[in-house]
Amino acid sequence: MRIPQYFRSHRSRRLPQPSTSQNGLGITLFLLLLILPGLLHAQEKWIAIEKICPVDGAKCALLEPAAPPAPVLSQPARFDALEEPFAHPNSWFQCRSCGFACYMTDFKKMEPAQAKKALAIASAMGKPDEERSYNMTKFSERLEVAQLYFPVLGRTGQPAFLADFYRLKGYVYEQDNQHDKAREARTQARMITADLIKDGKNAGLLREYLWELAALDYRLGDHKTALENLERAAKLRYYSQMLNQQGNEQRNRELTNLIADLQQRIESDDKKAAEQKTPAKNP
Ligand SMILES: [Zn+2]
Repeated sequence: MRIPQYFRSHRSRRLPQPSTSQNGLGITLFLLLLILPGLLHAQEKWIAIEKICPVDGAKCALLEPAAPPAPVLSQPARFDALEEPFAHPNSWFQCRSCGFACYMTDFKKMEPAQAKKALAIASAMGKPDEERSYNMTKFSERLEVAQLYFPVLGRTGQPAFLADFYRLKGYVYEQDNQHDKAREARTQARMITADLIKDGKNAGLLREYLWELAALDYRLGDHKTALENLERAAKLRYYSQMLNQQGNEQRNRELTNLIADLQQRIESDDKKAAEQKTPAKNP
């Protein structure tokens, strides 16, 4: 299985940590950011990098996260159980020469047979609009293109990745006001997540999957089931073999906050809806 890289960079939501010698610099930068709120934020978060496209060998100018993502409770996609960098358009690389698109961790050297298959897909697709930089292409379109390469990249056999992907697709379509497609993607994500929950192998990850399922229930309009799944999730502990003890503890703390955050959001939505139904009585 080729899951580990994905888990390191996405499932565990951890970017490489700075070494001890860099911590001083990190603290200085952090203080600088405190002093200049907002000013450096957008520029500091992504850095320009150059990578060779694994499909046609073209040199690609891409953007990579410069630092660990902002605290998850401040991220816009958290009510869809999505976290950065996975949920950020910059993280979905696309080659401007051949059009190959994928999540950034998949943008790496391929076996010759893989590259040949990918090139056949790219050739059938035609060249992308070279006038637009890779991150100017509509995010939903880029995800659709990336999906074409999943069989080549072995992603079709990785339900945890696919559940995240369809949840992301649902979120992105929703932002595009493509509501039917959003619903379709979320329904697909819900099916895959329900299967992951049923699979005995995933017992340790149940807490996270139930939170993800609840986010889908919420977006699909089933608030009651969403709250039930959150209640179930709140009682569990998360344990991933991919993380050490400290990592698991941290993820548990994050999940505790995310579960409560989503619960509050749903309850506040329900309250607003109830108030609209029952107009305030005249005094
Ligand atoms: Zn290419």
